[in-house]
Amino acid sequence: MRTNNTTDNSQAIPILILIGPPGCGKGTQGDQIAKLLGIPKISTGDLLREEINLGTALGKKVTDIMSSGNLVDDSTVLSVLERKISGPECARGFILDGFPRSLPQAKGLNEVLSKTSKKFKMTAIYINVSDETVINRICNRYYCTQCKTNYNKLYKNPKVAGLCDVCGGHEFAVRQDDKVEVVKNRLVTYHKQTEPVLDYYEKQDNVVSFDGNIEADALFASISEFLSPNI
Ligand code: AMP
Repeated sequence: MRTNNTTDNSQAIPILILIGPPGCGKGTQGDQIAKLLGIPKISTGDLLREEINLGTALGKKVTDIMSSGNLVDDSTVLSVLERKISGPECARGFILDGFPRSLPQAKGLNEVLSKTSKKFKMTAIYINVSDETVINRICNRYYCTQCKTNYNKLYKNPKVAGLCDVCGGHEFAVRQDDKVEVVKNRLVTYHKQTEPVLDYYEKQDNVVSFDGNIEADALFASISEFLSPNI
């Protein structure tokens, strides 16, 4: 596999980009990869939801767009992301979940990175899942309102019914954009706007593909098998 942005990979800062349709497991895999490599996972969806929860002007601007399943405009997302990845916690590398989702975002990320004199090793991890699996998975998804841990009625319920495994919270909710009609729209958006990003990284030979139609643990085993010698 070829890497970009650098000729000497031994000093390069790893950037892992998780690409795949909504519900392919980017969040779950990203959390596990973050633990494995000791670098943070940055989810632009989480950053935007944080803005909404804080009631900021930016949060107010993106609320309706996010509930409809459409994409927030590129410059808003890029500015939120740039602020985050410029922080000290990202200095040794980071994992991107849900970004870039359009070609201008992929190019914008390169511009942000080129402002520094650091060397980067960028790898896109593509998790391939069918639309049918996506709809089935997302429409059964819910989360703890206190700590935001995700659950799924089909295969991941709290160990003690009604109590969050992580924080003991007992209130759960379904994300506004996890309703079936919105999920279908998110898939249309993904095929139209995000798949070209995959082609973009494929042309740079920076993509590693994984079958995401399998159990999360088996998928993580394949991803970590790839990561250990390569990152
Ligand atoms: P996610 O949590 O990644 O599924 O994202 C939830 C929603 O946040 C998306 O449907 C978009 O409305 C918005 N969003 C998250 N990341 C991006 C991005 N990179 N570009 C545009 N919109 C985004």
